[in-house]
Amino acid sequence: MQYDALLIRYDEIAIKGRNRGWFESLLVNNIRKALDSKATVRTYRGRIVIEIGEKSNFEEVKKQVSFIPGIAGFSPVIRLPLDASMETIESTALLLADRALELGLTVFRVSCTRPNKQYPVKSPDVQKNIAAHVLRNRDKMFTVSMKQFQWNLEIEIANKDIFLFMERVKGIGGLPVGSAGEVLTLLSGGLDSPVASFLTMRRGAVVHYISFYSPPFTGEESMQKLEDLALHLKKFQGRSTRLHILPFMDIQLLIKERCFENYRTVLFRRLMFRLAERIADKYGYKALVTGESLSQVASQTIENITCINDAVDHLPVIRPLITNEKNETIVIARNIETYEISIRPAVDSCTAFMPKNPVIRGTSAKAAQEEAKLHPLLEELMTKSIENEKVINI
Ligand code: ATP
Ligand code: MG
Repeated sequence: MQYDALLIRYDEIAIKGRNRGWFESLLVNNIRKALDSKATVRTYRGRIVIEIGEKSNFEEVKKQVSFIPGIAGFSPVIRLPLDASMETIESTALLLADRALELGLTVFRVSCTRPNKQYPVKSPDVQKNIAAHVLRNRDKMFTVSMKQFQWNLEIEIANKDIFLFMERVKGIGGLPVGSAGEVLTLLSGGLDSPVASFLTMRRGAVVHYISFYSPPFTGEESMQKLEDLALHLKKFQGRSTRLHILPFMDIQLLIKERCFENYRTVLFRRLMFRLAERIADKYGYKALVTGESLSQVASQTIENITCINDAVDHLPVIRPLITNEKNETIVIARNIETYEISIRPAVDSCTAFMPKNPVIRGTSAKAAQEEAKLHPLLEELMTKSIENEKVINI
C-alpha cells in the first residue's frame, strides 16, 4: 500500500478572523520552502495537502513536515477523486485494514466527516457501509468498537477529493514563522537559550542570535557549538539566520579590574543586554530573547532579573522559560535535539570570570553606581565591540 499525500492540519482557533488567509498562505509558503521541490503543496479551505510524487521520499517529507511551526498535525492519506465509486472507497479501506493487520491492530471503528455537504451519501451511511465491507471481507479478523478501538479508519469527504487515513501524527504546533517579526536571542551555548529560541520561533518569530566571545577563554569549540546550534535551529525556522558574535573580553576585564566582585555577573549581563539592544536596533530586530528562568541560578533571582532588565532601554525581553522547571526544558531540548549540542563541553564567557560570591539580590542603583566606575572608557569599549562584530550568515 502506498500513501499518496499528507493532509496537513493547523490550529484553526489560532488563526481565526481577518488574518486567516494571510496565515494560510504564509504557512503554505513555508512548507513549499522547506520541501524545496520534493513535493507539490496544494490548498483547500482549511486544508493543506502535500502530494507525494513517485520521486519524493515519503519518510523524509514526513520528518520535514514535523519540524514546521504552524502545523498542528498531519495524516498520511490515500486520496481518491470525489466521484470515486463506493466500491473504490471500499477496496481502498481494505488496503488500510490490511496495513492495520500487519501492525497487529484488530479492533476498529470508521469515522467519516463530510465537509462537502453536496456529497450525496451521509457520513453515518458511509461509516456503516465501509465497516460492514471490512468485516465481510476479512472474515473474523476484525471487530468494531466505537469506544475502545485500536485504530480508526477515517474518511474525509472534501470539496474535490476523498481522503482515507488511519494515522494522526502530531506536529509542533504554534504559528507559521514570519507571522511575528524578527527577534534576537542571547545565545550562550547552554541548554536554555536554544530552547527559548525554538519556543519563540514556534510563535511565528524569525530568530537571529547574538553571543559574546572572550578569547582565549572561549575558544574554537564554543564558536563551533553556537554555529551548530543556530544551524540546527534553522530547520524549524526554515529561513536563513544571522549569528552575531561580539568581542566581550575588554569589557569583562575592565569590570573585573574596577568593580565590586560580587556584582560582576550582573554587570556582565547588563552590558550584554545593552550591546544586544544596539545590535537589534541596527538590524531592525523587535525584541530580545533569553533562556532565563526564575531563581534557577544566582543571576536569575527576581531582583537580579530586574536589575539586568533595567539596562535595556526600549525593547521587550521575551523569556519563554521564565517559569519552567529545568527538567521541562531538558525534555524540550531532547525533543528538538539541541540537547546533544548544548552538553558538549565549552567555556562560556561568563564562567571564565565567575565571582566567588555573586550578589543574590542586586539593585539597579548599586549596579549603576558600579558602572559609573567604568566611564568614560566603557562607551568606547562598547562601540569597539559593535565595530568588531562578526556576522555569520547561516
Ligand atoms: P543557558 O543554558 O542558556 O546558558 P543558563 O541557565 O546557563 O542559560 P545563564 O548562564 O545565567 O543561564 O544565562 C542566562 C541567559 O543569558 C542565557 O539563557 C542567555 O540568553 C544569556 N547569556 C548568558 N551568557 C551568554 C553569552 N555568553 N552570550 C550570549 N548570551 C548569554
Ligand atoms: Mg549559561
